[in-house]
Amino acid sequence: MNITTSQKLFEKANQFIPGGVNSPVRAFRAVGGTPIFIKSAKGPYIFDEDDNRYIELINSWGPMILGHANELIEKAVADAIQHSFSFGAPTRREVEMAERIVGMVPSVEKVRMVNSGTEATMSAIRVARGFTGRDKIIKFAGCYHGHGDSFLIAAGSGAVTHGTPDSPGVPEGVAKDTLTAPFNDLEAVQKLVDANSGQVATIIIEPVVGNMGCVLPEPGFLEGLRSLCDKEGIILIFDEVMTGFRLSKGGAQERFSVMPDMTTLGKIIGGGMPVGAYGGREDIMNYVSPAGPVYQAGTLSGNPIAMAAGLAMLDYLNDHQEVYLNLDQAGVKLAQGFRSSMEKLGLKYTINQIGSMYTLFFTEEPVKDFPAARSCNMELYGRYFHAMLERGVYLGASQYESMFLSTALEESHLDHIIQANEDSLRAIM
Ligand code: PLP
Repeated sequence: MNITTSQKLFEKANQFIPGGVNSPVRAFRAVGGTPIFIKSAKGPYIFDEDDNRYIELINSWGPMILGHANELIEKAVADAIQHSFSFGAPTRREVEMAERIVGMVPSVEKVRMVNSGTEATMSAIRVARGFTGRDKIIKFAGCYHGHGDSFLIAAGSGAVTHGTPDSPGVPEGVAKDTLTAPFNDLEAVQKLVDANSGQVATIIIEPVVGNMGCVLPEPGFLEGLRSLCDKEGIILIFDEVMTGFRLSKGGAQERFSVMPDMTTLGKIIGGGMPVGAYGGREDIMNYVSPAGPVYQAGTLSGNPIAMAAGLAMLDYLNDHQEVYLNLDQAGVKLAQGFRSSMEKLGLKYTINQIGSMYTLFFTEEPVKDFPAARSCNMELYGRYFHAMLERGVYLGASQYESMFLSTALEESHLDHIIQANEDSLRAIM
């Protein structure tokens, strides 16, 4: 594979951008080698600057659930652009977007648009703190909620990939209000709550984790958190930045039938444009300024182009719910294909999959929490990653990531991925 243009661009990027990238996991540090620079993408494929073609399993880390350059979204954006790019004033599309989110996400009664998932989670915990008058938050080890100070404690995804799950620059005073519990361990959460009685404002969780790789909640775990929060007057936040509109039209909360008090969203709601949102119970959301006292604002929030792209995306998903059945089938086909290849090769690595999210973990142990994810063979993952790249499949450049399928993948693409997986495993053994 010739990637000389990417190599040259990366060299130049390193002169002007810290680490050569605008978000750490793009740098390929965990897997070694030079990141490929993307020139364009269409449907299930991305093309790099050297004109290599790859089947996409990242899809911009989730947003491109319909594949790249979807015509409906392109048209919506082209129409919106004709009326200028930003007004800093209310628009019809923001109202439609809020109505659509409230209609699709079961627990959301009111919603505020922001510009990223990080803004959504930072704002949501501020509101939870303002509403309860309490300061502490509980998060789970290995969950990633963006790069807000309060969340860079035992964080997953790029934070742990780059060895900084606890980042310098986060003041001790902030860090002391973030309590960390092990994922899937209800008893530990109860103990933390008991030890901090009356002080915990919110428990925030990825209901299905994507950021230590794909990790599913054990039966009863989310339900247990719900009753604990009810008992203790704690606000339960589901961070559905990844799972929202992906695991079903109403996200993980609909799929598992557990309703949080607040929900954070991003990725798919922007159709690929920079967007986030946080919403929830009306009494809680009425605490947000100017309805209430908790301040939160944004020059570009509800940006008309982003709203147009997101609305086209949500309308399509709302009107074509067979998408989720098809994605589930694609996810199961991949997982089964991977398992039967491993059986053939005498390997017993763990694959976690739900709907259109999956991770192949280079460990034989079940992966239900962060320590299990961290016990994987990272060096082997790096070699596997490059073997897949050589075979035209673009994966997340870290073991701590979930892959994201899109509706643009056809049977032939899935077959190619299954074969590439088998050949790659054979090649790295
Ligand atoms: N929450 C979750 C669950 C995420 O996966 C991410 C990003 O991957 C974020 C929050 C932060 O979103 P953003 O990168 O848009 O700030």
